[in-house]
Amino acid sequence: MSLPLRRAPFPTSMAVQAAPAPLRAPRLIAVNSALAQTLGFSPEWLGSPEAVALFSGQWRDEAVQPVAQAYAGHQFGQFVPQLGDGRAHLLGVVSTAQGSTFDVQLKGSGPTPFSRRGDGLAALGPVLREYLVSESMAALGVPTTRALAAVLTGETVWRDRPLPGAILTRVAASHLRVGTFQYFAARQDSEALRFLCDLAIARHYPGAASAENPVRALFENVVAAQARLIAHWMSLGFVHGVMNTDNMAISGETIDYGPCAFLDAYRHDKVFSSIDRNGRYAYGNQPRLAGWNLARLAETLLPFFDPDEERALARAQEALGQFGTLYDTAWLERMRPKLGLMQSEAEDKTLIVRFLEILEEEKLDWTLSFRRLSRNEPLSEKPVSDALGGWLADWKTRRAREKALPAEQNRLMAQSNPAVIARNHRIAEAIDAAEHGDFEVFQRLLARLVRPFEDDADYETPPLPEEVVQATFCGT
Ligand code: AMP
Ligand code: MG
Repeated sequence: MSLPLRRAPFPTSMAVQAAPAPLRAPRLIAVNSALAQTLGFSPEWLGSPEAVALFSGQWRDEAVQPVAQAYAGHQFGQFVPQLGDGRAHLLGVVSTAQGSTFDVQLKGSGPTPFSRRGDGLAALGPVLREYLVSESMAALGVPTTRALAAVLTGETVWRDRPLPGAILTRVAASHLRVGTFQYFAARQDSEALRFLCDLAIARHYPGAASAENPVRALFENVVAAQARLIAHWMSLGFVHGVMNTDNMAISGETIDYGPCAFLDAYRHDKVFSSIDRNGRYAYGNQPRLAGWNLARLAETLLPFFDPDEERALARAQEALGQFGTLYDTAWLERMRPKLGLMQSEAEDKTLIVRFLEILEEEKLDWTLSFRRLSRNEPLSEKPVSDALGGWLADWKTRRAREKALPAEQNRLMAQSNPAVIARNHRIAEAIDAAEHGDFEVFQRLLARLVRPFEDDADYETPPLPEEVVQATFCGT
């Protein structure tokens, strides 16, 4: 089969040729055949040695010219002018029958000119974690990069202990990041910035091309996409964990699943990442930090907003000022259906926030509590507290004002409150088994995660106290 891949469209200033590391005995451990087929890979080909060669970075011919992309980024608030793909190779782009274009990238495929002191590799655990969580997010309807395949490299990766090495094949609408723009802004390369803007508009926001000022329209689109994305995360109790500007995609997709996690018991200030010592990227900080990242993006685009510096700044502030409003609206649009509400009333936000306060106070599980509400079940085995009792009564009154029948409200809740999410302790269990050569636990979990809205007494259960995962580690 001829590969559906084409070369990535970057000039050499933006992406350098880099060959993935040679491997003696790579082994395919997972392939996403549904996704592969939408990208034009045939099912027979997926079972061939060629597929293993492609997904392990061993494909060698003219058709595939892997590159490592340049980018910069603010990491925990500190600007690093050069990061780049230190352990990733962009194989090329594919277009679907529907006309969408996607990047196909290997992660963990060996050192590149951007590796700095890193080894360019990925351990099996983080690869499986990204596979599971990104596919879970996709099934939940959240814009996200996807997992196309995972291979075992057959080599050992050294972290705090020797671990099996692995490579993830990731599919993204693009790998343009806020940090990609920052890289060229820091070098005052306005030609490159213009190229990036045109590419981002063509790929992600074609409507912006016909705007009076296309770059401003691009920025407004990114602001709106991020507001919707973060609201979606928040409604699912998702904590990204490392929202550095290099990990924020221009497309509005969730990208770079490192120390990410879904909340178990709800805590507004919950942090999982072991490297996030100050809680910068805590659950409740995510909207604010997204706004901060977007301000960094705006800085790179100022000269395109208006030739006059002051007017350019005013334009940027206008667009950035929209983020809060767009986020609040998107958040309410996600949270109302979780309570079965289709109409909007002024007091809805208060009603929702009161429920969240009860969850936090009573240490209740985010996902299961909403699911139980939609099944009309008690939230826990404990007797109903006064606060919860009062809230349930107010909620009932509010629901009674809806035009929709209770059955319709229930259906809406069942479609808005997942039963099965990628719970930390389940991911840990799957990784642990895989490190011992057993991929069944991973496969079973994956099969459940792609059907999140079906009840499952086993997979929906929160961790037992001894199973709770408190910290996740960065994907390095
Ligand atoms: P992350 O925090 O995973 O988004 O990565 C931040 C930067 O570190 C990116 O430029 C990565 O390419 C780079 N990086 C992370 N892990 C490694 C590694 N093992 N080897 C080389 N570069 C890495
Ligand atoms: Mg990253």
